[in-house]
Amino acid sequence: MLSNLKEQPKDKILGLMALYREDPRPTKIDLGVGVYKNAEGVTPVMRAVKAAERKLVEEQTSKSYVGLAGDPAYSEAMCDLLLADSVDRARLAAVATPGGTGAVRQAFELVKMANPDARVFVSDPTWPNHVSILGYLGIPVVKYRYFDTETRAVDFEGMMEDLADVTSNDVVLLHGCCHNPTGANLNLTQWQSVIDLINDKGCLPMIDIAYQGFGDGLEEDAAATRLVASSVPQLLIAASCSKNFGIYRERTGLLIAIGEKAENTAVTQGNLNHLNRQNFSFPPDHGARVVTEILTDPALKADWMAELEEMRLGMLGLRQQLADELQKLSGSDRFGFIAQHRGMFSQIGTTPDKVEILRADHAIYMVSDSRLNIAGLNAHSVPVLAKAIIDAGI
Ligand code: PMP
Repeated sequence: MLSNLKEQPKDKILGLMALYREDPRPTKIDLGVGVYKNAEGVTPVMRAVKAAERKLVEEQTSKSYVGLAGDPAYSEAMCDLLLADSVDRARLAAVATPGGTGAVRQAFELVKMANPDARVFVSDPTWPNHVSILGYLGIPVVKYRYFDTETRAVDFEGMMEDLADVTSNDVVLLHGCCHNPTGANLNLTQWQSVIDLINDKGCLPMIDIAYQGFGDGLEEDAAATRLVASSVPQLLIAASCSKNFGIYRERTGLLIAIGEKAENTAVTQGNLNHLNRQNFSFPPDHGARVVTEILTDPALKADWMAELEEMRLGMLGLRQQLADELQKLSGSDRFGFIAQHRGMFSQIGTTPDKVEILRADHAIYMVSDSRLNIAGLNAHSVPVLAKAIIDAGI
């Protein structure tokens, strides 16, 4: 039976990582895979994470099962971080999930259970896993215009035109901050227009937020999510702790479902628990417990926030340095968008051919859609990348 299986399409980013590993050139630069790296190219374990883990080793007395939804203290701490007081918690159900990917997957499954006819509107482009998970679940995907390849900013007019087709049967998926892969984000006025459209159409909004604290700051990055939460009757939120706590392999995420009325929360919660039960029973606990320890201990939280802020400012500094360097070399402001984008990624808006020239001639690795990971740079590699971009005629 197993011989019936067909080969799956290769994952572009993982293929790129393999090519990078095999490249013998000492000057090679990896801007492909989406993990944060410091100036030494290391993805560190954050200080507060180490401290919380030490505490757990000392104090944890059991590793027996928790509940299907995970530890309620984790959900509460994460909702505080993400939503503050923007929504009545009695309207909110939540489950811990294996990473942000697990939250996205469970959210789509919940949509399918609630409405088998639902379509999901996604930005063009979006994180490729959104599209592939929807395809796997047989949920129709509709793309809305998002990125203007000329200005490298959000094509807001195009986005709103395309979202005009949304019906009350549909879901609109939005990135809460630090859009992946483009780095281009809506401002709060634009978010308000999207909220008005959502309320007008009666569709279900869903926010994927995987980079809180990587853009303009922890509070600032949550502002759009909070605005939506306080303005719409129903909302799904898929959150990831992989990046902002640096706990990628611990698989720590949260799915939040906000309903219109508090009296329906128990049924929603039961459905979320049921989905966890069918897919993996109990969600992973270690990362969630580390996050809870950090968020509920003022000293640990302060240290985590300080280190996260250092990471954020480091990425902003690299953005500015790259934009300045390109301004100098090109004599134009056409790369100014790199300093405007936020988060770990910028899509520089060039063709796969040019991306291949950067790899073949300059040992610079980025995803073929021209997404580069800003955190893969350091002060020394920025001028190398800038020169290569100009040499490649981008
Ligand atoms: N959503 C987006 C937009 C992402 O970029 C990512 C990470 N690449 C995720 C969700 C999920 O991350 P993880 O499963 O590693 O927590």
